[in-house]
Amino acid sequence: MTGAPRGFIVDMDGVLYKGERPMPGLRDFFSLIEAHPFVLLTNNSTVSAIDCEAKLGRMGVEVPAAAILTVVDATCRYLAAMLPTGGRAFVLGSCALNEAARHAGFELVPAGSPADVVVIGLDTAFTYAALSHAVRLVADGAAFVTTSLDPVLLTEDGALPGAGALAAAVSACVDAQPVCVGKPSALMFETAAAQLGVPPEDILVVGDNLVSDIGGGVALGARTALLLSGVTGSADGIEGAIRPDFVFPGLPELSTFLRRSW
Ligand SMILES: [Mg+2]
Repeated sequence: MTGAPRGFIVDMDGVLYKGERPMPGLRDFFSLIEAHPFVLLTNNSTVSAIDCEAKLGRMGVEVPAAAILTVVDATCRYLAAMLPTGGRAFVLGSCALNEAARHAGFELVPAGSPADVVVIGLDTAFTYAALSHAVRLVADGAAFVTTSLDPVLLTEDGALPGAGALAAAVSACVDAQPVCVGKPSALMFETAAAQLGVPPEDILVVGDNLVSDIGGGVALGARTALLLSGVTGSADGIEGAIRPDFVFPGLPELSTFLRRSW
């Protein structure tokens, strides 16, 4: 990006909102970028794009669901590219993930049935029996896909086990590593960039997580802006391989920067 950004890939949780709380400067930020192509991302495998559209709407921001790429959508696109229509999937995940997989044309099988792929998302109601079946299927050669490798989910109630913890539980039992669809996977960022139709060097990736957002943006070849409003709360110690181009406390400072750029 030699000049101002021409497209945006923006993480949602910790950037646009925290839980049900909009971040300061949310509406002003959208008034700035709405004239440009943008895609909003989330690694939360319990929500659909429609859910996110509704949530932003409650915060006074109108964003079409088509501009929202959830890990649920990205996972279904990946499965559709990998498996023939009607392939059998054993899903350890939320209602949103199950619904999306069914909608994408996969046959969802119950525990105890053979499957072509095991799909892991955040499943707050998972059972030992389901985990056991996932282990058996992967051991027998089923494809192994997860929405995230992150073992920890940061919530308003503190750190909880995330989808990556369930995937790791399977990996701990079987000598197999899952394909991760969610951030920082290229599957998520390349899909978003293709949707923008803007070359990576003209894209600004905005996120609050150094590893999953900034790491994914750097791998894409985009410029990156880390906001210290979420997971990565400090710029101290950012000296490793992943370095954001810009660091801002939050959306208001990013908006000020963009106003000066244009
Ligand atoms: Mg985030």
